Amino acid sequence: MRRQLLAGLQVVCMTVFLTVCAHAEDKTPSETQTAPATDDTCRRASFKVLLDVGHTPDDPGAISAHGNPEYGYNLSLANLAMAQLIEAGFRQTALLLVKGKGYGQLAQRAEIANRVAPDLLLSIHHDSTRERHISRWEFAGVERNYSDKFSGHSLFVSIKNKFYKRSVDFAKLLGRELATAGLQYTPQHAEDIPTARLPLIDAELGVYRYDNLVVLKDVRVPAVLFEAGLIINRKEELVLNTPERRALLAKAITNAALDYCKAHQAPPAPRFRPAVAKRNGKRSG
Ligand SMILES: [Zn+2]
Repeated sequence: MRRQLLAGLQVVCMTVFLTVCAHAEDKTPSETQTAPATDDTCRRASFKVLLDVGHTPDDPGAISAHGNPEYGYNLSLANLAMAQLIEAGFRQTALLLVKGKGYGQLAQRAEIANRVAPDLLLSIHHDSTRERHISRWEFAGVERNYSDKFSGHSLFVSIKNKFYKRSVDFAKLLGRELATAGLQYTPQHAEDIPTARLPLIDAELGVYRYDNLVVLKDVRVPAVLFEAGLIINRKEELVLNTPERRALLAKAITNAALDYCKAHQAPPAPRFRPAVAKRNGKRSG
């Protein structure tokens, strides 16, 4: 996550173009199979998950230890998570993609999310670290930044979000899934730096409060930002770039969405029941 995610920074460029929502309807029938019948309370086909792909092709976010832009990592993980969610029966899962740079593309995300009105918004990112921890090394003949000091994922929620409590609930469910899969969150955002330290609201599961993130505070839906790991860490970047790790993360997202859906999906509207006709004084049906 980079600093341009914060509200109040300069509006560098307003060239935000469009959003591409890759809906389940675009997929082949085999990819849109409904989940096996269960007795759970989650009606997956009507539960909308919006996966926000952090950054843009023009402003690709953090640069990894091996020189790869964050945006590619975000897009790869979001695509796989969408496929798994659809496979699990969440047929209305979509990606939120924008173009452009600066604050404009962030505002655009919030506007689109509010228009789409999903049941859940998950913003997908990959992390870097603070300047003070950065060192230099040479890879493929080019000198690059890296830091092996921290590793691990983190989860962010904003108390300015209208559905703060629900956002925290989803962040904890995802944190639990990740912990169960054997992954550890990074404590780096709780480092004792007065101007940068974030409140760690769940020290077991790695849920932080980051109140001024536009994509969390300006949306009127439950929202969580997921930093899937530190691509500035040389070893962790290699792991994050494997199909196995992506599959594990996508599975955690899917399981957490299912648990959240079971707990929070609004009950269905009461079904219309026509008046029972009477014939010869007896009920006909
Ligand atoms: Zn980011």
